Amino acid sequence: MNMATLQNDAVSEQLKQTTCPYCGVGCGVDVSCNVSERAITLDKVIGTPEHPANYGRLCVKGTNLLETNDLSGRLLHPTVAGRSVDWDTATDLIADKITSTVTKYGADAVAFYVSGQLLTEDYYIANKLMKGFIGSANIDTNSRLCMSSAVAAYKRAFGEDVVPCDYTDLENTDLLVITGSNAAWAHPVLFQRIERAKQKNPNMKVVVVDPRQTETCTIADMHLAIAPGSDVALFNGLLAYGEKTGRINHTNVEAFCNGLVDTLAGLDDLHVEDVARLCDVDLAQLFAFYALFCEQKRVVTFYSMGINQSSSGVDKAQSIINCHLAFGLIAKAGCGPFSITGQPNAMGGREVGGLANMLAAHCDIEDPDHIEAVKTYWNAPVMPQKQGLKAVDLFNEMEQGKIKFVWIMGTNPVVSMPNRRQVERALEMCETVVVSDIVKANDTLQFAHIALPATGWSEKDGTVTNSERRISRQRGILPAPGQAKHDWQIMCDVARKMGFSEAFNYSHPSQIFSEHAGLTGFRNNGKRQLDLSLLHGLNEKEYNDLSPVQWPFQASLALDSASQNKAILPQRPFANKQFSTPSGKANIIPVAYRPPLQITSTAFPYIVNSGRARDQWHTMTRTGKAAKLHAHMTHASVHVHPKDACSLSLKNGQLVSLESEVMLANLVKAPSHAQPTQPVIYPVKIDDSVRKGEVFIPIHWSAQWGSHCHLGALYASAVDPISGQPELKHAAVSIKPAVYNIQGHVFLNDGVDENTVQQSNDYWRKTPLENDKCGSAMSFDVASNGTRRETVQHLLRALPGTAQVIHCHHQTRSVCIALNDNKLCFIAVLDDVCGDQSESPSTAINTELNADGLSALASQLLGEEVDAQTQQQLLRGHVDERFIQGNLVCSCFAIREKSIVDAIEEGAVTVAALGDKLKCGTNCGSCKPALSQLIDRSLVIATQSQ
Ligand code: SF4
Repeated sequence: MNMATLQNDAVSEQLKQTTCPYCGVGCGVDVSCNVSERAITLDKVIGTPEHPANYGRLCVKGTNLLETNDLSGRLLHPTVAGRSVDWDTATDLIADKITSTVTKYGADAVAFYVSGQLLTEDYYIANKLMKGFIGSANIDTNSRLCMSSAVAAYKRAFGEDVVPCDYTDLENTDLLVITGSNAAWAHPVLFQRIERAKQKNPNMKVVVVDPRQTETCTIADMHLAIAPGSDVALFNGLLAYGEKTGRINHTNVEAFCNGLVDTLAGLDDLHVEDVARLCDVDLAQLFAFYALFCEQKRVVTFYSMGINQSSSGVDKAQSIINCHLAFGLIAKAGCGPFSITGQPNAMGGREVGGLANMLAAHCDIEDPDHIEAVKTYWNAPVMPQKQGLKAVDLFNEMEQGKIKFVWIMGTNPVVSMPNRRQVERALEMCETVVVSDIVKANDTLQFAHIALPATGWSEKDGTVTNSERRISRQRGILPAPGQAKHDWQIMCDVARKMGFSEAFNYSHPSQIFSEHAGLTGFRNNGKRQLDLSLLHGLNEKEYNDLSPVQWPFQASLALDSASQNKAILPQRPFANKQFSTPSGKANIIPVAYRPPLQITSTAFPYIVNSGRARDQWHTMTRTGKAAKLHAHMTHASVHVHPKDACSLSLKNGQLVSLESEVMLANLVKAPSHAQPTQPVIYPVKIDDSVRKGEVFIPIHWSAQWGSHCHLGALYASAVDPISGQPELKHAAVSIKPAVYNIQGHVFLNDGVDENTVQQSNDYWRKTPLENDKCGSAMSFDVASNGTRRETVQHLLRALPGTAQVIHCHHQTRSVCIALNDNKLCFIAVLDDVCGDQSESPSTAINTELNADGLSALASQLLGEEVDAQTQQQLLRGHVDERFIQGNLVCSCFAIREKSIVDAIEEGAVTVAALGDKLKCGTNCGSCKPALSQLIDRSLVIATQSQ
C-alpha cells in the first residue's frame, strides 16, 4: 500500500497526472488516489490516455510503479558518519566543506556527479550552484554514460544539441533502421508504437542492426548482425554506395550542408566488399540493405546505447547523421537520425547544461559571449572559463587526490561506471563524499560520509523532458516521507548557507522552471532552437496545470480556450533547413572506422557486451523491490553461444569467472577497504542469439544482489575522445569455470537472517520471491568451498531460536528445512560438486528447470503449515511436476513458458491467439516479442519433428 498519513478523514477519489520515472520514452501516468485529510493512498496507475508519448500505454515497469513505491529500504534521515543528524547539521557541514575546499584547493577540487533521474528544476539548481557560484564546471552526470556521444554528434553536425525527430516519425516512415538498441526491452512503449505502425502499413520496413538477435528482431524484415563496434564502416559504406548509385543530389544537399564533397572524397576507396568484411556480414545482405535504404523517401534511423557507449560513439552517430543529411532524409516527416535517451530526464539535463562540457540553455561553455550572458542572467559572482571533468576523468582525478569534495545525487556510480575498482578507490580517497539518494543502501552509499534523504518518484515535483523534446510535469502526489527533501531544496539550503541567499531563494519549483525558461531566451535572438521563453513567468497554477509541451515552439495567434493565454505551436526543428551553426548549414563530417579500444587477445579472447533486461531499471534500487519484476529474469547470467559453451565445456547454470586486463591490473593496486577485490562470477546461459566469440551480460544486478555481480569491474576506462562516453558495450575477457565444493539453493522468509546466509557462503545471489503470506521471501543461489555439513551449520545460525529444524544428509546432497510456529520458514538444498563441474554440475538440482521448480514450490510453501508428507518430499528434493513451468513470460498475468508452449501446440500460433487463450500480452504488451519468439521456436521444432 502506498500511503502517506496526513491529518483527518473523509475520503475522496482523485486523479493525479504525472510521468513515468524510468526510460526516456517519458510516458504519461494517471494515478488514482484516495485522498482524505489524514492520508493519501495511491490506488492504481494507468497510462495517460491523451499523453502524446504513450496514448494510454505503459510497459511492465510503468504498470508496476506502485509495487516499488513503499517505504521499505528508504533513506529517511540525513546521516553524518552513519549517525542520524538534523538537516541543519548536515547542510551546515556541507556548506562549510565546499567553502573550505574552494578556499584551500580552488573551485576545481569540488565536483557534483548528478543524474538523469533528477528533474529539470533539480538539475538547473545543481548547474547554477556549481558553475555560477562555486565557479567550476565539474558537474557531470550519469547521462555521460548514456547519450553524451549523441549530444556531441548533434552539436557538431547541427551546431546545437537538437534531436530532429519525434515519435510520430517512427510511425510515418517507409524504413526504420534500429541500430544499437533493443527497443523491445529498453523502450517498450515506443517499440509497440512501431509494431502497430508496421501492422497498419505492411509496406513499412524495419531493419535491425545489432550483433545480438534481440527481441527487437521479432519485427525486423532484416537483421544485420554486424561485428560489435563496426557501425561507422556500415554507414560510411552506405554513404559511398549512395554516391556511386546516384542517390545523392549534390546541389540540393550543398544548399544546406557543408562538407559533402570532402566526406565523399574520403570514401572513394571504400567498397561494399570491404564493409562486409569489416562488419562480418553477408555481402548480398549488405547490398540488399543499402539498396533498400537508398530507395526510400522516408527513413528514420533509431539509435541508442549500442551506438553511444563506444570509444567512437560520436563518429558512429555522425556516420548516421551524414547519411541522413546527404540523402536529404532530415527535417521532414518520417525522416531523421533519432537518438533515443535511456534515462527519464537526460534531455532536461541537456537543456539546463548539467554536463561538464556544457554551460546552460544550450550556451557554449567556451564562448565568452555565452559565459557573459549566463553570468549576467544569474548575477553570478564567478563563472568557469573551461570545460569541467567528464565522468571518467572526474573519478580518475579523484583517485589522484585532486577532487576533495564530491556530491553524488540520485545515481550509483560504483555500479554503473566502468573500472569499478578505480571508482571505489577514488571515493575512498575523496575527503568528503556526500550522497543524496532515496535508498539507505547501495554500492555507492557505503562510501558516503554524509547521506541525504531525497524525495522519490511519487513525491518529486517538477518537469522532465523525453526523447522527443517533450516537457511533461512529474507531479508530487505524496508528501515527502520522514525528513526527505527535494534535491533542489537541499541544494538551495546549502547555497544559502554559503552566502548565496538571493540567488537561491526559491519556494516552489515553478520559480526555478520559469527562470530556466527565461534563460533559454536570454540573448538568444533566434540563434538556438531551445527557446522556452514563452513559458517564462508561468505562475504556480499555470505550472501545476502545464500540459506536455514539445520544443521548439512559437506562440499561436489564437488563444488557448482553457487558459485564454496564447496557445503554443510546436515547430519541427530545422524545418527551414537553417541549422544552429554560424553558417546556418549542417555539417557533414568525414569519419573513419576505428576498432574498439578494448580488443580481444589470446589471454582475453571473448568480447563482453552489456545491456538492459526487460523488467528491471538501472541498478534496481526501485524495480528490485517488486518480486513480480524479478520473475521474468531472476538473475544476471553470462549469455554464451552454444559453440563457445561447447568448446569451454560449459553447461547451463554453471558458474564461470570472467577476467579482463584492467581487472587483473587492479589486483596489484591497493585493495579497496570497503569491497575486497572479488572475481566477477555469473552463471552461464547458453544462448544462440549472441554471436560466437561474444558474450552478453545484463547490467542491473549489483553487489546488493550478488556477491560477485561486479560487471563494471571488467570494463577499462576507455572513452570516446570527444564525448568522454565510456566503451561499455565492448570489453575483452577470459572465461573459466568457477570451482566450488558445494552449490545449492536456500529459500527463506521474514525472521531468517539474510546476512548470515550470505556470510555462510563464498558465492551467493538472491532473488525476491512472490509470496503473499510473508512480507519478504527470498531465494538464494549459493556456492561454497566448505563442506556441506559445515555450510549447513553456518546456515542454521540464520534461523530464529524458536525454529524447528529437520535435516537430511544424502550421499551427495544435504537438505534442511525449518519451521517456525509450525510454518515453513527455510529450505536449503546443498549438493556436492564432484570433480570437474562441467562433467557433473551439482547433480540434477542444479539444472535450470528444477531450480525454477524448486523456487516456485518454495514461493508457494514458505509461510504455510506443511504436513509430514510434504516435509518428506522436500527432504528428498522432490519437485512436483506442476511447479516446473519454465520462465515467466507475461508478468502482468503471471503466464509461464510451459503454458504458452502448450497453447501453441494446441493451435494458438499467433500472439493474438495466445492473448485470447491465456491473456498474455494483452495488458502492457512488453512480452509480445517473447511470445513471437516462442511461437517461432515451437513451430520450428514442430516442423523438424515431422
Ligand atoms: Fe516508463 Fe515503460 Fe514508458 Fe519507459 S516505456 S516511460 S519504462 S512506462
